[in-house]
Amino acid sequence: MKEKLELLKQNATSDINNVSDEQSLLRLKSTYLGKDSQIMQVMKSMKDLTIEEKKEIGKLANEVKSFIENLVKEKMNEISSKKENKRIFDNTLPVGDEIGSLSPITIVANEVAEVLKKMGFMIVSGPEMEKEYYNFEALNIPKNHPARDMQDTYWTNLGDVLRTHTSPVQARSMETYGAPIRMAAPGRCFRNEDIDACHENTFFQIEGMVIDKEVSISNLIYVMKNILKEIYKKDIEVRLRPGFFPFVEPGFELDIKCLICGGKGCPTCKNSGWLELCPCGMIHPEVLRMGNINPDEYSGFAFGIGLTRMAMMKYKINDIRMLNSGEIRHLKQFKVK
Ligand SMILES: [Zn+2]
Repeated sequence: MKEKLELLKQNATSDINNVSDEQSLLRLKSTYLGKDSQIMQVMKSMKDLTIEEKKEIGKLANEVKSFIENLVKEKMNEISSKKENKRIFDNTLPVGDEIGSLSPITIVANEVAEVLKKMGFMIVSGPEMEKEYYNFEALNIPKNHPARDMQDTYWTNLGDVLRTHTSPVQARSMETYGAPIRMAAPGRCFRNEDIDACHENTFFQIEGMVIDKEVSISNLIYVMKNILKEIYKKDIEVRLRPGFFPFVEPGFELDIKCLICGGKGCPTCKNSGWLELCPCGMIHPEVLRMGNINPDEYSGFAFGIGLTRMAMMKYKINDIRMLNSGEIRHLKQFKVK
């Protein structure tokens, strides 16, 4: 019986050392230590032995059993640590060379901000979840004003609003910095829109504002033309149409000559040859007053460029939904080489 146990020990050692996967090891474990294993048979048959033999063989059998148990345990550790290493350090796997890319809106926003910085504008940001006061009242849009209907948006239970434009940053900047000031604020805005190829509930604008002594409409046109020239790398024809916005007086719609058809008329510009780019105008005296700036001393202009539309024009993207989709194949086109 002693020999049997010795042989068992040897066989188990060589078998276990030779396996390299978990399943074979578990099979061996069952062979050498399971209910029907030889070692268990030895232990069962001990009842026929003398007390002396029982002592001796029992001790040996227990030693062999725990020896095999240890072997299995060590082998199991070895196998699982190899598996672990493979997962973390497998240097045979191809190295990922994927570098992310900026969204076309971010690219355009950065470009506009750079142009404005060169003209002495500071770039500021404001909260996307805004106080009702800054989104509406401070911009001369009191409760029940019809302009509020055009800016249906999302409200929180506490009465805050997902800002409908970047204009609240104007009001905040007047309060914080006073006049004179040149500021621009790019950011995300929200409206309660049904989504289709031309409409999104989430879009981007960049707000710009200049307040100083003797600021005029020609300053506004100069700044706008300069931005467009830098972004589209050529002179862009613009025109101003009267437009009503409660926070400017006079207010305008700034149109640019359609870049797709060059002004001849196409579906994108609805055959007019012109595209609305941004509302703008001279800041309403009431808005200045609410921002603690004296309208008799200072004047200013403000504009809100639709960055989403600008990116669509620049990259000829015909479906606005692409821009918020996170679609990798779409974004890959804008990868920095
Ligand atoms: Zn056109």
